[in-house]
Amino acid sequence: MINMKVINDIEKYKDILKKEIDNNNLVIFPTETVYGIGANALNVDAVNKIFEVKTRAKNNPLIVHLKSINEISKYATIENDIEQKLIDTFMPGPITIILKKKDCIPECVTAGLDTVGIRVPINEIANRFLSIVDVPIAAPSANISSRPSGTKVSDIRSEFDDKVNYIIDGGESKIGLESTVVKVINNVPTILRPGYITKEMIEKVVGSCNVSDHVLKEVDSSSIVESPGMLYRHYAPRTKCLLIYSKDIELLRNEIKKHLTNKTIILGSNNLKDIKCYKFINYGDDLETISHNLFSYLRLCDTYEADLIIIEGVDKVGLGLAIMNRLIRTSNFNYIEL
Ligand code: AMP
Ligand code: MG
Repeated sequence: MINMKVINDIEKYKDILKKEIDNNNLVIFPTETVYGIGANALNVDAVNKIFEVKTRAKNNPLIVHLKSINEISKYATIENDIEQKLIDTFMPGPITIILKKKDCIPECVTAGLDTVGIRVPINEIANRFLSIVDVPIAAPSANISSRPSGTKVSDIRSEFDDKVNYIIDGGESKIGLESTVVKVINNVPTILRPGYITKEMIEKVVGSCNVSDHVLKEVDSSSIVESPGMLYRHYAPRTKCLLIYSKDIELLRNEIKKHLTNKTIILGSNNLKDIKCYKFINYGDDLETISHNLFSYLRLCDTYEADLIIIEGVDKVGLGLAIMNRLIRTSNFNYIEL
C-alpha cells in the first residue's frame, strides 16, 4: 500500500511533482475554492485515472486548470466580448468559464461536449504547481464522488491515502465551495453552478446574468442538462440530512423541534444553539464563514453516530445561492422552506 506523502514545501519537491504529472499520475493540490485531484489534461490515461479513483461518472466533465489567462487560447476559443470581459474581470479567481474547446483537449475531459470548462486559480500554491508541471491540469474536487468536497488534508487523506502519491498542503481552503461555473448562452452569462463569484457581481460587469433552473432543482437525467454535474448525488455525509429554511427565526426553531430525534445533530447558526438536541454544531454566523466550514463540518457530523442532521438553510442571495445549491443536494432534496 502506498501512503500519500504530504508536501509542505512545494519548491523542495518541484522536480518530483513534475515527474509525477509527466508519468500520468495524480497529484492533489490546494486552490482557493477546494482541493483538486489533478492530472495532465492532455493525456487520456492520466485523465481516466481521475474518473477511476473518484468513482466519477464518465459523463461528468472535468475542469481544466491553467497557470495563466494567456494560456486560454491554446486550449479554447473565446467567441465573444462577454466571455472576454468575464475573463478580464474575474480571472485569475474562483470562476470556471465554459468555452468552445480546441482539438488538443481529449473528449474524455469534456465528456464528449464541444466545450471545456477553463479555470485559472488565484491561490499562490495552485499557480506555482501549474507553472512547475507546465501542462494544463484536469482536476475535479478531491473527494470520492457523492461525498463532500475536500477542503483540508486530513479529510482528503482518509479517502485517497492508498491511491495518490502526493498531496500539496495549503491549509484549509479559504472559500470552501467549488468555483462558479458560467457559460455565455445567447449572449447572456448563465450560472450553471453558483459559487463565490455571484450573480450580482457578474451583473455589475456585464449587465445581466441568468441562473440555470437546475441550480436549485432536482435534475432528471432525461432532460437536457448543460451542467451534467448537477445530475448526481453530491456533497453528502453518511448520516441522513434534513434542510430547513425560514427567514422567521421563531418559525424555523419551531419547525426544527418537530423533527428532532434522540440523536439529532443541529448544524446551524447561533440562533439555534439553545435548542436541546444530541449535538449542536455552529457552522458560522455569516455566509463566508458558513461556506468555509460547510464541507468539513458535514464530514465532522458523521463522527458522532447521529441518526439525523438538521441543517439550517440560508437566504438564496449572493453567496447564499451557492450554499443552498450544495445543501439541497447534501440533503438529497429533503428540504422544507417556510
Ligand atoms: P467538479 O469537477 O466536481 O468541481 O465539477 C465540475 C463541474 O463543472 C460539474 O458541475 C460539471 O458539470 C461542470 N462542467 C465541467 N465542464 C463543463 C462543460 N464543458 N460544460 C458544462 N459544464 C461543465
Ligand atoms: Mg466535485
